[in-house]
Amino acid sequence: MKLGRRTFLGQGTAAAAATSLASPALAQDLAGELDRIRLYDSHEHLTPEKERVRESVDFFGLAAHYLLNDVISAGLTGEALSVVRDAKAPPGKRWAAFEPYWRMARFTGYGQALSIAVRDIYGVEEISGQTLARIDEAIRTRNRPGLYDYVLRERAGIDWCLVDAYWNERPDRLEPEYFLLAQKFDGFVTPASPKDVARLEQVSGVSIQSLAGLKKALAATFERAVRSGMVSVKSTLAYRRELLFHEVSEQDAARDFEAMMQSAVEMPRGFRAQKMRPLRRLEDYMFHQVVRLAEAHRYPFQIHTGLLAGNACFIENTNPNLLANLFHLYPGVKFDLFHIGYPYQEELGVLAKLFPNVHADFCWAHIISPAGSRRTLDEYLETVPVNKILAFGGDYRFPELAYAHARMARRNVVQVLAGKVEAGLFTERQALEVGRLLLRENALALFPPARQSSLVTPGVKTG
Ligand SMILES: [Zn+2]
Repeated sequence: MKLGRRTFLGQGTAAAAATSLASPALAQDLAGELDRIRLYDSHEHLTPEKERVRESVDFFGLAAHYLLNDVISAGLTGEALSVVRDAKAPPGKRWAAFEPYWRMARFTGYGQALSIAVRDIYGVEEISGQTLARIDEAIRTRNRPGLYDYVLRERAGIDWCLVDAYWNERPDRLEPEYFLLAQKFDGFVTPASPKDVARLEQVSGVSIQSLAGLKKALAATFERAVRSGMVSVKSTLAYRRELLFHEVSEQDAARDFEAMMQSAVEMPRGFRAQKMRPLRRLEDYMFHQVVRLAEAHRYPFQIHTGLLAGNACFIENTNPNLLANLFHLYPGVKFDLFHIGYPYQEELGVLAKLFPNVHADFCWAHIISPAGSRRTLDEYLETVPVNKILAFGGDYRFPELAYAHARMARRNVVQVLAGKVEAGLFTERQALEVGRLLLRENALALFPPARQSSLVTPGVKTG
């Protein structure tokens, strides 16, 4: 046992060593101070509260985001998985199918978040067949107006949430007022059929007969997002394709557009579509158009990099390093790269170190890998200027899980900062200043909430 432990520590990173040095008293001291910092949450998918309180949410509903992916990875498949997903099946039957794999997945970051939410928000210490009914009852009781203020503002200490409302392809104002809009325009980058183009006409209210029409429709939708209070542009194209966007001539893009409108291109389906992009020239061209709009209107740009939600992906498509040409071409656009690019967090660290317009965002990261996030923050703090690091974004549909993630993020920040104080890099006061930047001030500088309350459209002509 002893040898095993020594071997483990021997392989540990600087962070593991640093955090093991931190005295419990120091960590507790710092935690007391850092817990008082009100958060700027750089990324969520929280649905409007009025919709949430109409849904009948139960334990398995919460488990479906994201923990179920780890339970599936542990082996839950087929009929048993269908039972777990079936909201009409008896809870006892669902639990019996879920439990053997939950036992294997409960220690991952996703499992930790679910346990923390159930314990702290619903007052149930342990998730089990015996406590399931109690958990469901507690969720039902709390599922009424006021839930968001209680969980997000009071319990999580969040002042602002930047929300990617991916269900609104047509930009729309968000509520409550501390939800700030991050708007995607990915649909304009990847139309693959005349049917897609018809949908984009609906979204934009612009007729699309040519590439020029598609650009006009994009610009009109962008203007609508500006009027809806957009605070950041957002893209999750890594879910569909590689993140390298070549510079493509207008003629080449137009040729792809014409072929698509004549349905002359066979589109791959499902998983294969992540690799095969027959309309790539059109996509690459249109993505540059989105970045140009962000540049013209002076918006920051949040981009998904690294791990994809679900249970399969070509991870190499998501490497943040593929985006490097954009950082050169558009120095005026501030890029906020998501999820520390996990597992490419070192590449992302290099990009944030080199490029003044690249920021490293820990949203989703503390639950993907709590230990990896500590190691990465430990490394970034001595590699990347501290104003370039955003330490928290919940990335959940459910506020109780965003709360749990916030807790895990605060805990990680405290552990890493305490390690730095212990190692003599920071004074305790400096650690607090850095904590404030990481959890609040950096996001506030990058995504000023005032932008949402202003209805004035910048007078820049684009498209
Ligand atoms: Zn997300």
